[in-house]
Amino acid sequence: MKSEKDLKKMENNKKFEDLWEDFRIENPNSVGCFRDQYVSFKWLYEKLVGESHNTDEYLIPEKSRDRLVSEYEKYGSLTIGFDFDGTVHDYHKTGATYEQVRQLLRELKDIGCTLICWTAYQDLSFVAKFLEENNIPFDGINTNGIKLPWESKKPFFSALLDDRAGLIQVYNDLRYLVDYIKNK
Ligand SMILES: [Mg+2]
Repeated sequence: MKSEKDLKKMENNKKFEDLWEDFRIENPNSVGCFRDQYVSFKWLYEKLVGESHNTDEYLIPEKSRDRLVSEYEKYGSLTIGFDFDGTVHDYHKTGATYEQVRQLLRELKDIGCTLICWTAYQDLSFVAKFLEENNIPFDGINTNGIKLPWESKKPFFSALLDDRAGLIQVYNDLRYLVDYIKNK
């Protein structure tokens, strides 16, 4: 006489076998490697939960924030890019002071980050003078960020503060980093 627990286990095994059989029919070429494990997990998740599994890990806001914290803790510094117009400089004369981003940059400098201004502004001597006069720290203007061991046209930063690149999330992530490090 089988116990209720054993019967439940057999029932679950049967369900699993049926699901596995369905999976193999729908994905005939998908067995035996890491990628396939993910394909099968995703397939199973969608079957059981009834909605698509989010495969884009950096669309989860905490993922990029937590990566910044762990990289800072590993290297004791991060290289951050920041845009000029519309991020720290009022090009369109809207009256904005950009004081929150400017203050964040000062605090990032305080915790040892390298800051690179990355701008399309033509007069770079104006940019340098403006940054100095407004106490906005910078370690370079339009110079590459993190040095890669190969040639690349992409300036590589741990994060980029730019009014045209999801500024609010990057601002919040870096604000979190600074507060976390300062209050540790
Ligand atoms: Mg801009």
